[in-house]
Amino acid sequence: MELLEDFGALREELRAFAEREIAPHAQRIDREERIPAEVVAALRGAGVFASGFPEAYGGSIGGDPVAGVVRHGLMHEALGSASASVQGLVNVHHMGGSPIARWGTREQKERWLPRLTSGELMAAIAITEPNVGSQAGAVEARAVRDGADHVIDGTKCWITCGQSADLFVLIAGSDEGPTAFILPRDTAGLTIEPIHGLLGCRGYMLAKLHLEGCRLPGGHLLGKPGFGVSHVAAAGLDAGRHNLAWGCVGLAQACLDASIAYARKRRQFDAPISDFQLVQRMITGMATEIHATRLMCWHAGTMRARHDPTATKEGAMAKYYASRMVSRVASDALQIHGANGCGPDFPLERHYRDARIMEIIEGTSQILEGVIARYVYQEAAR
Ligand SMILES: Cc1cc2nc3c(=O)[nH]c(=O)nc-3n(C[C@H](O)[C@H](O)[C@H](O)COP(=O)(O)OP(=O)(O)OC[C@H]3O[C@@H](n4cnc5c(N)ncnc54)[C@H](O)[C@@H]3O)c2cc1C
Repeated sequence: MELLEDFGALREELRAFAEREIAPHAQRIDREERIPAEVVAALRGAGVFASGFPEAYGGSIGGDPVAGVVRHGLMHEALGSASASVQGLVNVHHMGGSPIARWGTREQKERWLPRLTSGELMAAIAITEPNVGSQAGAVEARAVRDGADHVIDGTKCWITCGQSADLFVLIAGSDEGPTAFILPRDTAGLTIEPIHGLLGCRGYMLAKLHLEGCRLPGGHLLGKPGFGVSHVAAAGLDAGRHNLAWGCVGLAQACLDASIAYARKRRQFDAPISDFQLVQRMITGMATEIHATRLMCWHAGTMRARHDPTATKEGAMAKYYASRMVSRVASDALQIHGANGCGPDFPLERHYRDARIMEIIEGTSQILEGVIARYVYQEAAR
């Protein structure tokens, strides 16, 4: 089995790409609340949108699946380090595409996946509604069968890349229960309302989706009716938790790198503040937590690549731990920067705001505590 250390050269290559093509735009993305076309073009050119999808449809996962999944994770780490918003764009593309790869018919896979992996089309996932958050199964959007078609009415909110995605994997209630559909952006009756002014991850290009009589032909039903949350959305969330955990490692690493550079340069009491033991304690805590989380992500990714039965639990644990870790690390990093950490000349205040989002998305920490406890009880009962 390869160790994470065996991917050192690849990690450096991915990091160099992110530093060159994404990091210079990160402050502007935060300020303007959108990801510029040149960044999307650079991601497309580097094949980033193929990452995590099966090779048969133009994706990156083939040959040695463990190496492919670790590569995918390291890419999310590199993206998260350069811009949490850009990591979010790539994440939801994979979250929207994964359910098609997992549950789509052959026709659906052939129709959509090559265009997703090439980056010609961008995907997103629409589960949340104004009255429906963690309890995804209580979805209020309604899909009514009309011959071979479904007609959908309802509202989705907080949809990452809702402003920009070309197609949505969307959950709506039906007579059989929550059901998943592939909703192209140009569907008549779909209106997109941008959401601005978010605390962090301001380049997520969030939107509300209003659906009024959106008619979808039978070929847009994804998976079995009634399996929309338990199977289809679950495939997206499994992918998203794994991606986000790696993204948090990257964001935390950016905080640590900035802190080390600052602590060495900043002098107080006739010494660089890096000499003070109380600062060293923060640096040590950050470095150790990041290292531990990276190993957790690597292990979760390995289980995922092997389709191991523990993969969902491992992914949930990695996301739970990583999302809490990055908030602690960002807080300490800001502390090391003092007043400069609060101001516009350093990226720390952005990192701090971005980090706070991570415990809310892809399952809140409280929801994941329930999910993980259920797995732990099941294992203990065996
Ligand atoms: C930046 C951002 C991007 C997002 N992107 C997307 C997206 O692309 N697609 C999408 O569908 N959604 C998206 N969301 C929505 C996100 O998935 C939800 O915010 C999340 O599922 C939580 O739902 P909620 O915010 O309605 O909180 P609620 O479910 O109302 O929860 C509120 C509080 O109660 C707690 N709580 C709820 N139920 C329980 C329970 N059973 N036990 C203990 N505590 C509980 C929660 O942990 C939380 O602390 C996004 C949200 C944000 C902020």
